[in-house]
Amino acid sequence: MEKKVKGLYLNDGKCVCKPNFLVPGLIPKEEAVVEIIGKKDDYFLCQIQNITKASDNRIEPICPYKSCGGCDYSHISYNAQLEYKTDYISVLFKEFNVKVNKTLGMDDFLGSRHKVIATFGMKKNKIISGIYEENSHKIVDITNCPIQNKEANDLIKEIKNIFTSLKIEPFNEDTGRGLVRHVYIRTGYYTREIMVVVVTASEIFPNRSVFVKKLLDFNPNIKTVVQNINSRKTSIVFGDKLRILYGDGYIKDSLLGLEFNISSQSFYQVNPKQTEVLYQEALRMANLNKNDIVFDAYCGIGTISLLAARKAKKVIGVEIVKDAIKDAINNAKMNNIKNAYFVCDDASNYLDEMAKNHQRIDCLFMDPPRKGSDYRFIKALKKIAPKRIIYISCGPDTQVRDLKMLIDMYKVEEVQPVDLFCQTHHVETVTLLTHTKN
Ligand code: SAH
Repeated sequence: MEKKVKGLYLNDGKCVCKPNFLVPGLIPKEEAVVEIIGKKDDYFLCQIQNITKASDNRIEPICPYKSCGGCDYSHISYNAQLEYKTDYISVLFKEFNVKVNKTLGMDDFLGSRHKVIATFGMKKNKIISGIYEENSHKIVDITNCPIQNKEANDLIKEIKNIFTSLKIEPFNEDTGRGLVRHVYIRTGYYTREIMVVVVTASEIFPNRSVFVKKLLDFNPNIKTVVQNINSRKTSIVFGDKLRILYGDGYIKDSLLGLEFNISSQSFYQVNPKQTEVLYQEALRMANLNKNDIVFDAYCGIGTISLLAARKAKKVIGVEIVKDAIKDAINNAKMNNIKNAYFVCDDASNYLDEMAKNHQRIDCLFMDPPRKGSDYRFIKALKKIAPKRIIYISCGPDTQVRDLKMLIDMYKVEEVQPVDLFCQTHHVETVTLLTHTKN
């Protein structure tokens, strides 16, 4: 069924139109004829048939891959993308009556993504690699993603050649034949060190030493090659089993003057340059002093913890992934930081224990995954009642849900959106909360 609509605002990347239409790809103030293709909660999901009035903010995407659903804001000029992100966060945070700062963007976002996961498949007897088309299991063959780090793009092309020459086939989900499911490449921003992880469906990796040699011949910046075995029938990329084929299983990068080891199972932000902007904002809001006891929940490889440790009395970082905690402990040693302690545990468990033991925290950083934190964590947090909370989030809707549980004791002072995921609707936020009785 066709409808005429006018774009009002962008919510989670989709344009909301009166009375209850959601139109991906439309920009506020644009008019279009759309077709209803489904339902999403209380809204009709629509597809654009024809744009009858285009926005000045509409541009021709720099990306040639039309069917790749990766960058859902590539049709919007970059400055407008940042403005829409600020608007989205302002609407989301309205009830907290807080000033939302302008989204901090990049001067040049090309090549800014330093973590690439390419899914492998076959098309007409040729190896292809890229990402799945939106809502499908069809791979879009991407050879030159402009947002990804160029060395990673070149490397993926070469890996396809090497697999072809060694007759290593991509895994086929339907037949269960073949070996390679994905290739994950992480590139250090300052060091340019490269990690290559090949995710395979089974353990046997024929010609793996020749594969490694050919990789190193192609790019000597490769510091480690890892095989990750994922034999499950799942859309989750990584399995639990690892085999290091070359190097130490990690690469080094640096952020704001500290060095970090990053191993393959550990989380590290995709856009290192903007991560520095994000952390600087978080540290500015924390305003730490040498008497402060700091807690860093969901600490990953200890990046925020170690940056905070330079300014505080003591930092405790908690993270659930074992390898990330190993990295964090090594990272403290490597940077000669002696007042940071790391624990592998569920953040809610650990904080709950601290609350029961009446332990003190002056400033708490929390940076949970997209699904946000949980009630147990918030309850323990309120019992400990640190003076300041810095909540970093890549899922602003779950962040708002969590903040609502805190505002009887805390004031939301400041929100700073940062553009870590350029060309997409995703946005990272840093939020400062202060205890109302301190
Ligand atoms: N602050 C870090 C990591 C943020 S990503 C950085 O900026 O790099 C979120 C982290 O939370 C991931 O490392 C993930 O492994 C961890 N995590 C997920 N669930 C958790 C839980 N229940 N308890 C502790 N850590 C968790």
